[in-house]
Parts: sequence; structure tokens; C-alpha cells
Amino acid sequence: MAIQWKRTVGQDRIKSSFTRAVENRQIGHAYLFAGKSGVGKFSLALEFAMNLLCQSESKPCYECDSCRKVLNHSHQDFRYLFPLNFTTEHKVKGNAQKLTEAGWDFIAEEMKKRLADPYHTLELGGSISVEWIREMNQAISRGASGSGWTVVIIDGIDTLRAESANAMLKTLEEPPVNTVMILLTESVHGVLPTIKSRCQIHRFGSIEPEHLAAELTRRFPDRGEDIPRITSLSYGSLGTAITLMDHDETGDSAIARWFEIAFSPSDSLDQALVLESFVDLELEKDFPRGMKIVNALIEECRFAFLHRYGSEAEYIFSSVAANRLRTLKPDQVERVIKSGEDALISLKKHSPMLMVFVTLTLNLLEICNE
Ligand SMILES: [Zn+2]
Repeated sequence: MAIQWKRTVGQDRIKSSFTRAVENRQIGHAYLFAGKSGVGKFSLALEFAMNLLCQSESKPCYECDSCRKVLNHSHQDFRYLFPLNFTTEHKVKGNAQKLTEAGWDFIAEEMKKRLADPYHTLELGGSISVEWIREMNQAISRGASGSGWTVVIIDGIDTLRAESANAMLKTLEEPPVNTVMILLTESVHGVLPTIKSRCQIHRFGSIEPEHLAAELTRRFPDRGEDIPRITSLSYGSLGTAITLMDHDETGDSAIARWFEIAFSPSDSLDQALVLESFVDLELEKDFPRGMKIVNALIEECRFAFLHRYGSEAEYIFSSVAANRLRTLKPDQVERVIKSGEDALISLKKHSPMLMVFVTLTLNLLEICNE
């Protein structure tokens, strides 16, 4: 029976390979999904897990007791682990291995967001706690309760520290029958060879633009005019596209405004005054927003550079800036990017906002007017 993929966008080749595996009852015990963030590794892993655990004829149905439990993260035979930034409050004092109640609550909270929308971008970073891995090992060794399968998804497997990796390795080497482990990574090179060699590897490419645009239209039916730009900007990652759509609503006006100031040919005294009032009124001490603007500049540079080499990808935030940047030589583009990166470092340190933007704008002027 074919798998009813309901939420996973694109990735048709991998979908058919899993459908065939289910039809032929040739399900592996360890898979490694590799690919950049937001292309559907977790979504596909989740639907495959639900398919194995689902009690209905047409799987996964999203309605039976089992499907509901997976989505509530209360299914005994399903585990999902991912790296989190645990704070001291999440760990038992004097025993950093153990999680406090707040630690487990934190996991549950992040889990809920991720299961509600498998393309929800995690604030990745941090690590998977060893205690969490041990809890998973115990659950696996207890064996499956209902459907016969036990499924574990582990995200960010490349971030696993030695201790956690060792705790997991034995389960990966000799898993009980009907156990499926699906490991996810953005960087296959970072995965320990001992882990990699035990897995069937699937590489996830970018989502095709037409699939991406169709999904964005479904999710944001009123934002048709933004979709072509966001589609070209997100390089085949639905996760990135969703983040950009969300940011667009709140932050894009400031980004566009800064590009206008920085790239409009005007009297420099005038420009300095406008810049000052822009920072005062729009940014104040909103450092994340400042960083978003600088990141937009860096992105715009990359697009301009690609354009020179025949890429069809369109400008993103400002056509004036894009046209100006496209005339620069590669070494000039590199220097603009470098100035942007320096600005990001200063913003991370919370250096005075106005000084950061004045320096960046002056650098831009100098590089562009050579
Ligand atoms: Zn079901």
C-alpha cells in the first residue's frame, strides 16, 4: 500500500523509494537523511514513522489514535530527539547529565512546535542531552507496544557529542527487531564514520521552485505578490521561505528603507542625516533587526554575484541596490560582504547602532565609487 504523503513537499524520488520499501517489506533499521535545513528531511521521516505506526488502511491517516499520539508526542513507540540549547535551569545542579522538570518541559514545548509544522525552523544549536539518549535506549529495549514498530528520529546527528554518540551506538549496532532509526543531518561530513557506515543514506536536494511556490500559495493565500521573490530567495528550502514570509511582514520595510538610503545617489551630508534619523526611528536598540538588514545586504551581494555568471535568480530587497551591486567586480563584492560581516560582529557585541551603520554605509560608498 502506497504511503499517503500529505505534508511533505517535493522530494519525489525519496518518497517513491520509501513507498517501494514499504510495499516490498524491505524496511531498513537505520537511515541517514542528509540535506540543508528546511528541505523536508524531518517531514518525510515523520510521515514515514506515522505510516509504520498508523492503524488505518490508508496510511498515515492523521486521524487514528496512533497518528494523533505521534503528533502529540505521546506515542510509546515513537521518539524524536533534537539538539537544544539547554540552560543551567534545565539541568540538575551538581549532575549536568540529568534534566530538571523545566528541562523536560522545554523539550516538550519545542517538540510541540516542530510536530505542529515539520517545516518550522528550529533554533538549532546546543546538543542532545545524554539523559535523553538513555531514555530513548530504554524505550527501544522495552520493545514496541502496539503496531509492532518502534521509530526514533534523531535530528542534528552531526552535533552529537562523544558521550551521547557512545550511548547511542550500541542501539544502532544491534537494534531490536522492528526498530527503525532515522538520523538527520545538514552536514554529512560532520557525522561520525561509525554512525554513517551503519545507515542507508538519502541525500535531500532543493525543493523544485514550482512545488515550493505551490506550497507557499497554500500557506499564504493572500500574499501572492511576494511568492515569486521569496521562492527565488529561499534556494529550495521551504523552512527558509516560511521564515522569510514571516519576517517580511514585520521587518521588510526597514530593510528596503536602508537599501534606499545606502544606495541612493545623494548629497553625503543629506545621506548622513537621513541615516541618523533612520537608525533613531526604525532601529533604536533592536539589534536582531539591525542584523536582519545586514544579512539582507550580504544576500543581495551573493545574488548580484550569481547574476553576473548567468543566474536567473532575481533581486531580493531592492532593485536599485541589485543593479548597483551587479556592476561591481568580484573583489569589490567580496569587500562589501566582508564589511557586512564586520557589521554583524559589531551588532552581536551590541556596539552603538548608529556607528555600525555609519561605518557600513561609508564602506559601501567607498567600494561602490571606486
Ligand atoms: Zn493513522
